[in-house]
Amino acid sequence: MPRKFIVGGNFKLNGSQSSLQTLVEGLNQGNLDSNVEIVVSPPFVYLDQVRKAVRKDVAVAGQNCYSKASGAYTGEVAAEMLKDIGIEWVILGHSERREIFKETDDEIGLKVAHALKAGLKVMACIGEKLEEREANKTTEVVVRQLAAIAKHVSDWTNVVIAYEPVWAIGTGKVATPDQAQEVHKDIRAWLKEKVSAEVAEATRIMYGGSVNGGNAATLAKEEDIDGFLVGGASLKPEFVTICNAKARM
Ligand code: PEP
Repeated sequence: MPRKFIVGGNFKLNGSQSSLQTLVEGLNQGNLDSNVEIVVSPPFVYLDQVRKAVRKDVAVAGQNCYSKASGAYTGEVAAEMLKDIGIEWVILGHSERREIFKETDDEIGLKVAHALKAGLKVMACIGEKLEEREANKTTEVVVRQLAAIAKHVSDWTNVVIAYEPVWAIGTGKVATPDQAQEVHKDIRAWLKEKVSAEVAEATRIMYGGSVNGGNAATLAKEEDIDGFLVGGASLKPEFVTICNAKARM
C-alpha cells in the first residue's frame, strides 16, 4: 500500500487567539489535497480552540507531552490530557526540546512509549547538528536517536518519523533533495534491518527544515520523503501550497 503523504505544521511558541483564528480560517477555506494527511500543532493553551475551529480533515497535535499520566510534575502536560480534549497527535523529540530543554534520547524514548500507550499518534523527530554532519556522523546520530525510540515501539502503526537536520531548522538552509533522500533511505534501511521489512515499507518519514512553498514540490518527488514537518512556513498562507506539494508534481 502506498504511504499516505503527511504534512505537519509546528507553530512552536507563536500565535494568539486571534492570529490562530485567522490561520485556521485560511486552512478551512484552502483547497487542500484530500490525499494528504494534515496535522497542525499550536501551543498547548490554543489546542482546544484550534481543534474546535479547524476543519475536520485536519488533525491537531501537541508539541510535547510528559512520560507520566499524572502527579507532582509542575508545568508538564500528559498524553492522557491531550487525548481527553480530543487531540490525536503529539510531536516528540523535536531538536528544540533536545537542545534547549536538554531532553535526552532516553527521555524521548519514554515519552514516545507513554504517548503511544495513551493512544496518541507520534511524530518522532530525529536529526543531526551541523558539526555532526561535518564530522560525517549523520547516520550514527540519526540511528542512535532512532534506536532509543524504537526500543519502546512494538507497533509502528501510529508512529511517523520526522527527519529534521538541526542545521536546516529555522535557518532558511534547506537540505537538498539528495541530502534528505540519502538520510531517509538510511532510516528506512535501518528499520528494515532492525525492525522488519513491513515496518520499513509502511512507516512514513517526513522531512523538516526550512520547507517552504518554493522547495516543497521538489523535495516531495524523492522516493523516501513521505511528508514534511514545517515550522516557520506553517504560520503563513503558503502552508496550503506545501500541503499540496505532492499533488502539484
Ligand atoms: C521545525 O521546527 O520542525 C521546522 C522544520 O522548522 P522550519 O520549517 O522553520 O525550519
